[in-house]
Amino acid sequence: MATPLTADRLVTALRAEGVKVVEHPGWRTNNRNHKGAWGPVHGVMLHHTVTPKTMNAVPMCFSGTGDLPGPLCHGVIRRDGSVHLVGYGRANHAGGGDPNVLQAVIDERYNDRPPAPHQHNGSAGAVDGNPHFWGFECENEGNGVDPWPAVQVEAMVRASAALCRAQKWGAKSVIGHLEWSDWKSDPKGPDNVVSMPGLRTRIADRLTHPASWTPGTTTPKPPAPQPSGGTRMNLTHLTRTTSTPLLPDSPVRIYWETEYADEPNQHGAGGHSVLQNADWTANLHLFFSGLGPDEALQVRHIETTSGGVAEEGPLANVDGFKDKGSVTRVVTLTGRIQPTETLSFEVTNLGAATVTLLGARLMMHSTPL
Ligand SMILES: [Zn+2]
Repeated sequence: MATPLTADRLVTALRAEGVKVVEHPGWRTNNRNHKGAWGPVHGVMLHHTVTPKTMNAVPMCFSGTGDLPGPLCHGVIRRDGSVHLVGYGRANHAGGGDPNVLQAVIDERYNDRPPAPHQHNGSAGAVDGNPHFWGFECENEGNGVDPWPAVQVEAMVRASAALCRAQKWGAKSVIGHLEWSDWKSDPKGPDNVVSMPGLRTRIADRLTHPASWTPGTTTPKPPAPQPSGGTRMNLTHLTRTTSTPLLPDSPVRIYWETEYADEPNQHGAGGHSVLQNADWTANLHLFFSGLGPDEALQVRHIETTSGGVAEEGPLANVDGFKDKGSVTRVVTLTGRIQPTETLSFEVTNLGAATVTLLGARLMMHSTPL
């Protein structure tokens, strides 16, 4: 169930789907709304015009025939694949049909075909389809022999897909008139080119692609979603395992030895510089021996330019836990490092005795500036 698209949105949706749209003069106000409801809409219905090859069916579908006033559909799909809009609103195209079919279309619950319609021999049908279906009349003699040009069938697929896409329906919301009323045979043609299951398969396939899709081409995959509004986040994972003595009150820069997950060119291999030109947040794990549980440490990050230290980060006090003679301490730091700077980390032993930094591990997320 859906509210019908506005006339403007109908045109936009068709054009987005690559349909060659021709707006027949007066189509936007040509309707049968004074005779009954228009909407809610549940689907799209395809018809054939039963007109000779040489006849332009557009004027007839706009105005109607002697006993059936127009519009006779919303769009006429000509043999050349152009789609001529002739009505907006209630149109005389669907007529009476089977409520079970309507329910199957609303639910989009059926296999190849909706249940066969049952209300026989030209009776009015139990349900009026005119409020509920968009309709396309397709130029064809309707005798089962007259061939359907490929460009016309493609336009039928595209016009139907455009409405399904815009009304948020699947291909099972598209039926033929013959599936609605048991005395109808349209659309009918040779070689199954306009069989409704076949058309629905093509429409369903089309709906898996963007509206601009050209059959036979591959659709480029959309880029993978990125964090931080499309900016890639990098992961840096560095360790060192060589012991380093920490004398009292003597800051020591941490040099890194092994990289696990960092991106190329994100840190100075074997050095202490780890990053340039990024916002960053780091978890720094430090492993010590000789450090008492109550003894204090401080950790900070250092921003260095070619001219020397540009900025020392705020001191982070560290505490932690003792495990098998070594003490692990974990500290989280964050900052922004400019393109002209490099980032490194420094640890200072604030105790009275020398302790040993047994190793360190840095796990850092960064987002390029
Ligand atoms: Zn029909």
